[in-house]
Amino acid sequence: MWVTHMTRDRVYVHPTAFVAEDAVLGPGTKVWHAAQVREGARIGAECILGKGVYVGEGVTIGDRVKIQNGASIFSGAFIEDGVFVGPHVIFTNDRFPRAINADGSLKSEDDWQLGKILVRHGASLGAGSVLIAGVTVGRWALVAAGAVVVRAVPDHGLVAGNPARLVGSVCVCARRLREEREGMLVCDHCGRKYRCDADGSVALA
Ligand SMILES: [Zn+2]
Repeated sequence: MWVTHMTRDRVYVHPTAFVAEDAVLGPGTKVWHAAQVREGARIGAECILGKGVYVGEGVTIGDRVKIQNGASIFSGAFIEDGVFVGPHVIFTNDRFPRAINADGSLKSEDDWQLGKILVRHGASLGAGSVLIAGVTVGRWALVAAGAVVVRAVPDHGLVAGNPARLVGSVCVCARRLREEREGMLVCDHCGRKYRCDADGSVALA
């Protein structure tokens, strides 16, 4: 059905957007031009879905998530609170994509396994980045624009390239962290300090 603006509690849905009847939108969420939210999707409060965003069946999205124009979030995605999804980011969900079976017949819903992606609290996905099914992006991590993420990204990790490699760590303010001394990282922008353990894990000190 077409849902016109202000038909749900403090929700704005642009008249050109399509939101499935059983999709859940939290209070204060805005859905802009030509966006599509599929059946069973659950979107939290105060989210922004930009122009042309696609949210697949059963996708779960937390509160205060910003999704920029043209991002495609296919089924199997789970996005925690406060995540930034840049323009034209793609969440894939099939690690073995084929249109047809070996005998040439069209593959059906039963002919493949849904791959899952988890993006954790506060993480950011740069413009045009691609997440391959099966990965987890850690809390406050930053995926550079155009990166292709093929393996897990640790909390506060900064990854770039194709395939994406870990090139540093970032602050909650998204600036790169500098090693102050053994096991301690600092943000020169906001002054926050982080502990870096021997296993490479980074957390606020
Ligand atoms: Zn900072």
